[in-house]
Amino acid sequence: MKTGIITTNTYLNHDTGQGHPERADRVTVVIDRLKKLKSKNLVWKKPAKFDLKYLQLAHDKDYLNSVKDSFPTQGLNFLDGDTILSPGSKQATNDAVGSIITAIDGVMKKDFRNAFCAVRPPGHHAQKQKAMGFCVYNNVAVGAYYLLEKYKLSKVAIIDFDVHHGNGTQDIFYNNEKVLYISSHQYPYYPGSGAANEKGIKDNVLNVPLNSGTQPHEFLNAYNSIFKKLKKFKPEFILLSAGFDAHKDDPLAQINLESKDFYTLTKRIMILAKQLCDEKIVSILEGGYDLNALKESVDYHVKSLLE
Ligand SMILES: [Zn+2]
Repeated sequence: MKTGIITTNTYLNHDTGQGHPERADRVTVVIDRLKKLKSKNLVWKKPAKFDLKYLQLAHDKDYLNSVKDSFPTQGLNFLDGDTILSPGSKQATNDAVGSIITAIDGVMKKDFRNAFCAVRPPGHHAQKQKAMGFCVYNNVAVGAYYLLEKYKLSKVAIIDFDVHHGNGTQDIFYNNEKVLYISSHQYPYYPGSGAANEKGIKDNVLNVPLNSGTQPHEFLNAYNSIFKKLKKFKPEFILLSAGFDAHKDDPLAQINLESKDFYTLTKRIMILAKQLCDEKIVSILEGGYDLNALKESVDYHVKSLLE
């Protein structure tokens, strides 16, 4: 069974400035580690060009225009306190979106069974009309819209296991019954949203807030309610907002997963995907800021996708 790895080197030119946690090394260590797997079943692909109309489904036109005008020709430009653009960000942000499009096409054409996008910047904090938390375009949201529009699916689930709440993704789909948005995250914590009573207008949002200090067994147990909701929704495709910052060594949060727990979590999602949606899963990198923890965790995640 094959797994697509979608990546390209343009992320290297998305410069967030010295000392920024969301830095190019993150993706470099992930790619180096995945290359060491030397698996014949990994299919490496570059993100293809895509129709910008899909970006416009997730974001307001005004916002997209303002981002377009904000890419600097030199130096850095701050969209907010921690979301930064450099000259190379234009191509990198575009390729991050393109990666999930390419991954989806590959799964739908059965070039590979599932896929992981090793890209940056991440996307789940980017709202319809606002950049936030290192995120410019909401990559996973564009992917969900692409499935609805291009492939005419009527039910797409997004599972966001990044340690932060994906407020941007929730914002974009809060009133869209075709998309089930599920997030497990440390709470209360950045970005402030993600309480259990935020359920979406169509009961299409499930937030599973976790206390600081949550242990692996508690984290995995919390997924029982998530799987119940997924079974009821019956998605035709599952997208993963794959952040690895719930790791115990991550400097940006206080949840205590170990690297191997991402194998267990992924495996459990895959078992469900087999029952529900013919195993169709596309995963895209969100957070994860301890380089060693990140590369180990992605290694476990992708090994699980490969099995
Ligand atoms: Zn995060």
